[in-house]
Amino acid sequence: MTTTTPPATDRAHKAAKRYIYAWGAGAAEGNGRMKDLLGGKGAGLAEMTIAGLPTPPGFTITTEACNDYFSAGEQLPNGLWDDVLEAMQAVERETGKGFGNTSNPLLVSVRSGAKFSMPGMMDTVLNLGLNDDTLHGLVALTKNERFGWDAYRRFIQMFGRIVMDVKAERFDHVLDAAKAKHGKDARDTDLTVDDLQALVAEFKKIVKTDTGRDFPTDPYEQLDLAIKAVFASWFGKRANDYRNSQKIAHDLGTAVNVVTMVFGNMGDDSGTGVAFTRDPNTGQNELYGEYLTNAQGEDVVAGIRTPAKIADLERDMPEAYREFKRIGEQLERHYRNVQDLEFTIERGRLYMLQTRDAKRTAAAAVKIAVDMVGEGLISEAEAVARIEPAQVDQLLRATFDPIALKTAKRVVKGLNASPGAAVGRAVFDADDAVAWVNRGEKVILVRIETSPDDFHGMAVAQGIITARGGATSHAAVVARQIGKPCVAGSADLVIDYASKGAACARTGIDFKEGDWLSLDGTTGDLYLGQLPTVEARFEDQPELQTILGYADKIRRMEVWTNADKPEEAAQARGYGAQGIGLCRTEHMFREGERLEIVRGAILIANAATRAKAKVAAGETLDADEQAVVAEFDVALGKLETLQQGDFEGIFKAMDRLPVVIRLIDPPLHEFLPNLEEQLVKVTQDDQRHEDGKGSGAAAEDRDLLRTIQSMHEQNPMLGLRGVRLGLMIPDFVKVQTRAILNAEIAVTKAGGHPIAKIMIPLVGHVNELAATRALLEAEAKAVEAKAGVHVDYKFGTMIEVPRGALTADEIAREAEFFSFGTNDLTQMTFGYSRDDAEGGFLLKYVEDKILPVNPFQTLDDAVAGLMKIAVEKGRATRPDLEIGICGEHGGDPESIAKCERIGLDYVSCSPFRVPVARLAAAQAALTNAAERDK
Ligand code: PEP
Ligand code: MG
Repeated sequence: MTTTTPPATDRAHKAAKRYIYAWGAGAAEGNGRMKDLLGGKGAGLAEMTIAGLPTPPGFTITTEACNDYFSAGEQLPNGLWDDVLEAMQAVERETGKGFGNTSNPLLVSVRSGAKFSMPGMMDTVLNLGLNDDTLHGLVALTKNERFGWDAYRRFIQMFGRIVMDVKAERFDHVLDAAKAKHGKDARDTDLTVDDLQALVAEFKKIVKTDTGRDFPTDPYEQLDLAIKAVFASWFGKRANDYRNSQKIAHDLGTAVNVVTMVFGNMGDDSGTGVAFTRDPNTGQNELYGEYLTNAQGEDVVAGIRTPAKIADLERDMPEAYREFKRIGEQLERHYRNVQDLEFTIERGRLYMLQTRDAKRTAAAAVKIAVDMVGEGLISEAEAVARIEPAQVDQLLRATFDPIALKTAKRVVKGLNASPGAAVGRAVFDADDAVAWVNRGEKVILVRIETSPDDFHGMAVAQGIITARGGATSHAAVVARQIGKPCVAGSADLVIDYASKGAACARTGIDFKEGDWLSLDGTTGDLYLGQLPTVEARFEDQPELQTILGYADKIRRMEVWTNADKPEEAAQARGYGAQGIGLCRTEHMFREGERLEIVRGAILIANAATRAKAKVAAGETLDADEQAVVAEFDVALGKLETLQQGDFEGIFKAMDRLPVVIRLIDPPLHEFLPNLEEQLVKVTQDDQRHEDGKGSGAAAEDRDLLRTIQSMHEQNPMLGLRGVRLGLMIPDFVKVQTRAILNAEIAVTKAGGHPIAKIMIPLVGHVNELAATRALLEAEAKAVEAKAGVHVDYKFGTMIEVPRGALTADEIAREAEFFSFGTNDLTQMTFGYSRDDAEGGFLLKYVEDKILPVNPFQTLDDAVAGLMKIAVEKGRATRPDLEIGICGEHGGDPESIAKCERIGLDYVSCSPFRVPVARLAAAQAALTNAAERDK
């Protein structure tokens, strides 16, 4: 043991670094800006003290001390202990109490507190400093024997569990048995002094049996062990899991706060609670939270008793309530953000224990940001910066279909702790949740209450339901933060872990593991079965639209969409899309009757193309050749009419906005039956014939097989596709060009304002583009001549082949715009097959940190580097070159930030991601501006 008594501080041993920052008596050594060093809690306590708010005196041991503790092989850095002793003496002086003093004992809490809030993920020990002797001092001082013994049993229980690694259930069973003596519904407050004394003795025995050592009685030994336990909890499993899920760096470390204990469990004029200055679910501007009279902090969070609403405090302790409300308002103004507050009232006197920016649901985040702009508290730019792109995504998530809800079987109603609709199969354990999800199932996690140990299960579940605990219980707080629907405190639900089943006596409905459940975190209802969901309606969310309106004023890049159908285009336009950045025309080839026509054309495409080449060379065609050409032209004629209709629909939906139409890209075999399947069909038919059944494979099946074989390529994604296809079989792209331009003419005639841009995919060499351009310009002239009107269109290319990026200066001679196809560009830069990698090694690469992220989701820096080269070279040739991105990365916030830095004009993404992209583009512009100003 490092020390057992408070030795005289030898300043020669003072730590080389400053590891300790104290506060008290209206002054603090730290402040609210020092979250890196003091953690959120320490910085908040310092700042509240400076602001003159009532805080219990104490000190923070820095995050740096935590990191040095680990670098030194889990040893306190030299001199730190002496500094702790000195800081303890200062606290003693200020409180007039003595640590370990038997007549006037000072008790402290030892609390974790990292830079980023990690609710319940690390450890905290309360009532530290108690032993058999100081207990008597505490009892004498408070004249409250029950309180003293209750504090003592809590301390042994908490210290035993957290510092000495005794299993929680060991204490819980004994405690439950003691309560049960007072009746079925007995509460911890029903325990008598005798009960508590017996519990203390029992708890000490448990510690001795399970750890082989006596419960430590020296307060300084307790303090030393507790500090180390809090440090250790930084690398605890649940803290690690949480950091991974929230992308918090593992090297930040936690601070340790040693804070004078104040007691909420000193009688009915005492209490403790957690409250938010605005409702974190809805954003409503009213105090929201819960408290318990005669209780300690952990009781509220653990959901041991159901707490009262904070509004009831006004009735129970009016003065404390008024002061608390005033302080809340003061802190909100000070931090210009909603605060999450922890407080304790000790015999009518209010103490503030914590203030931090409150976690909130997506809906609340948006409402609060808009309200605060209205209140003049924050600027529009700050409002935009405060919304996470993922929150916008959440707001567009599904809810249950109201029609289906009318006949749905409701199992139970609980508290609507975190909004959203979730459908999954019941599991009763966090590990089971992970196992089921790994098998490809969707699950709802059903728990009596959750603890930080359940985090991994919550993270993979669709939703969470608990039987106990309120709106600030662990389940509720964590679910809101990770954006999972949650119903908490469903008191009527009796959950039995042993049989993996649950039942609600009130409704008479039960369910067991594996049963389908539908959970509505917005209303607090749990239903049996799989209810259909409906999309969230963007139109019904005026505050979200307001935020995006602010974003639109800030962002430099436009947000376009990838849409192939008029309905998609209209939806995206409703979401705020400013153009279509990619219309993949080949998607239209697969719709309804088109596929048959396309297949028919493909089968004779090569023969027809050869025949046409002969004609061009002045040769005459034989009858067969003429028939092939005629058949091919008929098929293409039909296709042209259908495609023209498609384009007219899109132009109308996007009236006055640009529409980039990409000409055919995929290898033609994608439109034909699979080679293996066709081979099997022909072989089986022939085999049956040999066996005396049937007449063998049909001639057309044989022809089809031959064509498929003739088109087969080992590496089709690197084969005859994109621009190459247009050059080898020009009729497809000619037809598409005619369809686009005739659609433009038709829509213009009907009073519309189409803006067409024709885009060529997969260009690697400028000559490919030049040849294609010549081909299409001739076609355009023919269309104009026939219609007798001039048709405006722009001609551009995708940059999705590394050679294209590297020679962008040459390519820009032939292109009026570029659009980065980062799906292919990523594939070809890495040499990873975009169709196979994600099902193969790629996800493992990310898991093993060989790659920091999946490059098909988030733009890789090297790919972004190629883009930057292309932008610079392209604009060197053509300064007004319009440049966008239409690969999947166009809707990913991190990638959007990179596009801003590279200087693209727009990002184009799927319709559903347009709102997210609007926000992300604004945030990227803000970040860039801030970096420039540095
Ligand atoms: C791309 O490659 O990024 C792209 C948008 O084209 P596609 O996904 O159709 O190949
Ligand atoms: Mg591509």
